[in-house]
Amino acid sequence: MIDGLTPAVFERAVESGDAPSLSFLAGAGTYRRALSTFPSLTPVCASSIATGTHPDGHHIPHLVWYDREERRLIEYGSSFGAVVAAGTRRSILDTIFNMNGRHLSPGVTTVFESLHDAGLTTAAVNFTCYRGRTEHRTVLPGVTRTAFGPERFFFYNLFESDETGAPLAVRKRAAGTIDAYAAAVGRWLVTRDGFDFLVFYLSDYDYASHSLGPEGAAAKLGDADRAVGALLEAAGGPDKFLERYDVILCSDHGQTEVHSAAPLESGYADLRLFRGRELRADVAVCASNRAGQVYRLPGCREETRALAERLDGHEAVDVVFFREDELAVARRDRDEVRFGPGDDTFARAWAALANPNAGDVLVSAREGWEFTDLGGRHHAGGGSHGSLCAGDSEVPMLAVGVEAPPASITEIAPAVVARFPVAAGVV
Ligand SMILES: [Zn+2]
Repeated sequence: MIDGLTPAVFERAVESGDAPSLSFLAGAGTYRRALSTFPSLTPVCASSIATGTHPDGHHIPHLVWYDREERRLIEYGSSFGAVVAAGTRRSILDTIFNMNGRHLSPGVTTVFESLHDAGLTTAAVNFTCYRGRTEHRTVLPGVTRTAFGPERFFFYNLFESDETGAPLAVRKRAAGTIDAYAAAVGRWLVTRDGFDFLVFYLSDYDYASHSLGPEGAAAKLGDADRAVGALLEAAGGPDKFLERYDVILCSDHGQTEVHSAAPLESGYADLRLFRGRELRADVAVCASNRAGQVYRLPGCREETRALAERLDGHEAVDVVFFREDELAVARRDRDEVRFGPGDDTFARAWAALANPNAGDVLVSAREGWEFTDLGGRHHAGGGSHGSLCAGDSEVPMLAVGVEAPPASITEIAPAVVARFPVAAGVV
């Protein structure tokens, strides 16, 4: 999985031969453009990939959200390496432990859990949604909590189930050090044929695309290609690699260019905003990248509809969604469409609204616009994602050895389980 890789960049790189390892895999497989989930943000997408469900199934709503039970904001960080580097303790604990240990619904089964239950060895490198059956201790100083992950579990040097000797330097992120770490671990795993199933996750491409824009980042695809190439070489060459393994290669979401950013909270300036400590507040506004959520808190005198209508005319807002009676409403400026659970056009919006952890109002950003996050930060002048628009939502999907490339990121987990007859029988 190459985070944030757009179909256009992938297709061009494969055709031009600029990415020899990706070109080799594309030549051996079948390809299509596939659909992500909404909001098209990594924690949400990774959970959809690992569980085969949209947010109504896995319950991860966004990068940032309001926990109604604990009455606090959850912030997984714009990038996981960045959270590790920036280092607020609560974000780190939410990102590293709570997303998988508490927030990810116990009602769904991850691909790691399914395959483990069938007696197979699973592995993951840096993958955000890692929940598995094997208990691991972190190397974080002073943290005694453990996490349940795949048997072979590598997560930004914080969890390492095996001594691989791979180095990690989070502070030099722009130089592609996270993926260099992933490549070193991946090489170690493939050399030993140490897994039946591996999620090999490269995050640096998304990081580059946020700062350079989706087209500007194309030059950085060579780094991801080399990381994939390290796996092919570790098997004794590309052909030997494919004798041993089938491959699904994809991204979690796309990216689009953003030229401007605006705070979503500006629509609620006269209400009492929850920012982390307030005992009385009307709304919690959670936005970052190109998706936003508004939570109506107990005691708020305005109905959900009124909270949604406040965003009419907001420069960065494209569509707002909210539930009303048994249906849902999509509102763009003052036009409305009502839809239900069976409506294909709004299937992703419905699934996002049906997540019990989602805001009461969900917002998809206008093309070219981003919402500033809790720290006032944004990627204007670069790239971003999160909305329902095609550029954020379409991903490249390549299948090698697997019958057909999945049409949605939610079809990956079922395709993987079906690939292992022993697991298909168990699940
Ligand atoms: Zn991103």
